Amino acid sequence: MILVFADTLIEHPDLYRFSRDAAEQLGLPVVRVCDGRTPFELFRDVRFLGNNRVAPCSRWLKQVPARRWLEAHIDPHQAILYVGIDHFEAHRTSSITRGWAPWTVEFPMCERPYLTKTEMLDWAINLGLRPPALYYPPYNLSHANCSGFCVRAGIRQWAHMLAVDPTGFAAAEATEQDLRDQLGDVAILRDRRAGRSRPLPLSELRTRAAA
Ligand code: SF4
Repeated sequence: MILVFADTLIEHPDLYRFSRDAAEQLGLPVVRVCDGRTPFELFRDVRFLGNNRVAPCSRWLKQVPARRWLEAHIDPHQAILYVGIDHFEAHRTSSITRGWAPWTVEFPMCERPYLTKTEMLDWAINLGLRPPALYYPPYNLSHANCSGFCVRAGIRQWAHMLAVDPTGFAAAEATEQDLRDQLGDVAILRDRRAGRSRPLPLSELRTRAAA
C-alpha cells in the first residue's frame, strides 16, 4: 500500500503532523504530490476566483498532480485506488470512479458498518493516533482541508474562521481583494438574502460579523 497526499501548501500545520504520524503507525511511506501553487496563486494564474460552485483548485492542485504521479508509477491493471470519502458522500462515488478510469476505485469508508465520522476519529484515537486539530475546538470543522479556508465552504464556516483564526482570515481577505482588483466584482461567497444573489466579499462579511 502507498499513501498519496496532495499538498495544497495551505494545509494546517497539524495536518502534516497527522499525515506523518499515520504513515509511521502504518509503516508506510507517504508520497507527496504538489502542483507548487496555493489555491489563491492558482486563481491568479487562471484569472478565476474559486467558489462553492466551481473550484479549479480541487482539480489542478489535487486531482491533476495525483493523476500525473499515478500515470508515471502505477500500472492501472495492478492497483486499486482507495478514496477516503465516507458513506455520507456516497452519491459522489460514481463520478469519482469515472474520473479515475482506467484505475479501479474502492471506497472502504462507504462500506459496512457505516461508521460516523466521530466513530472513525474515536477509532484512530483508540489506536493511539491523534486526529487533525481542525476537527476539534476551537475549529470544530467537518473537513480538515486547506486550514479551514476552503472556497467551497459557506458563509457560516468563513464567519466561524474569522472568529477562530483572524490572521488566516485577514490573509484570505487581502488576497481576495487583490483578485477583485484584477477581475472585478467576484467573491468566494455569495449573498442570497432577499431573493437575490450577489458576490459577498470577505471584507463585507467581516463588517457584517462585527455588526
Ligand atoms: S479544500 Fe477547498 S480550497 Fe482546498 S483545494 Fe479543495 S476545494 Fe480548493
